[in-house]
Amino acid sequence: MTEPPPFRADLHCHSTCSDGSLTPQQLIHKAKAIGLQALSITDHDTMEAYLTAPQAAADVGLTLITGAEFSTVHRGHSVHLLAYAYRQGESTIQALCRRHRERRDARNKAIIDQLRAHGIQITVADVVGEAAPGTMLGRPHIALAMIRKGYVGSVREAFQRYIGDQAPYYVQGDPISTEETIATLHQANAYAVLAHPHLLPDGNLVHELLELPFDGIEVYYGTFTTEQEARWLKIAQQRGLLATGGSDFHGAIKPHIPLGCSWAPEETFQVVWKRFCDNNYALP
Ligand code: AMP
Ligand code: ZN
Ligand code: FE
Ligand code: FE
Repeated sequence: MTEPPPFRADLHCHSTCSDGSLTPQQLIHKAKAIGLQALSITDHDTMEAYLTAPQAAADVGLTLITGAEFSTVHRGHSVHLLAYAYRQGESTIQALCRRHRERRDARNKAIIDQLRAHGIQITVADVVGEAAPGTMLGRPHIALAMIRKGYVGSVREAFQRYIGDQAPYYVQGDPISTEETIATLHQANAYAVLAHPHLLPDGNLVHELLELPFDGIEVYYGTFTTEQEARWLKIAQQRGLLATGGSDFHGAIKPHIPLGCSWAPEETFQVVWKRFCDNNYALP
């Protein structure tokens, strides 16, 4: 007898509302086509995908959970924090997204100024032109503008030579702390999950971060090996944290990572789904 396929809920992917290359509708159709049971679209610092995604998910019969990936800073280090199950349009999170938009506009301009000062003649308009109107613009869009003008051959090269975290023209911008972001999410009764913990620079930082009131940690991740998953699963179990998972699919800017290549187990999905239903469908 053949085993039934595993329950797959991809709880980490990006749409054209941030630096992904598929629209929320296209993502949902793709998720359905490849047989995922559930999806959360987790764009950087924006909930915009949920203006259109719920209808698209209802149309194809896919379970969709609200999500976002917030850029936070702890002791000067960049820390990505996944938010789940918030009420659609939640005002506290909307206010956080507005702050991020301002932060990003100023930060992107500062990076572009640095590049221009060093002979890379791209403009804010060039970068805006790389994305649909209203997109939460980030460094990948700056990289695309650099490619279009012939300064680099790939997004990867742009990050390595110019705008990656360790590269010369990176500007972090106004930090919004990890602690404050968790508090904002909890105020909205949403879950706060530490994303791709392996990208943090050292174990001390991980343990320090896990002293904060996180609800979960991303144990299953696009590019993880089984050993890496086992390590993070052990930490999640020791601390009683949700073990979430997802691909971090972006489409064209990271073409080697397919949608659904990593996912949350069904028991985690059920917990997050219950919170989503409590927040979104509670009777008055
Ligand atoms: P930002 O949020 O604007 O600071 O840009 C960070 C985003 O750029 C990350 O979330 C990734 O999606 C993408 N990114 C970071 N490093 C790289 C890289 N080396 N190559 C391609 N994309 C990257
Ligand atoms: Zn991204
Ligand atoms: Fe991330
Ligand atoms: Fe991501």
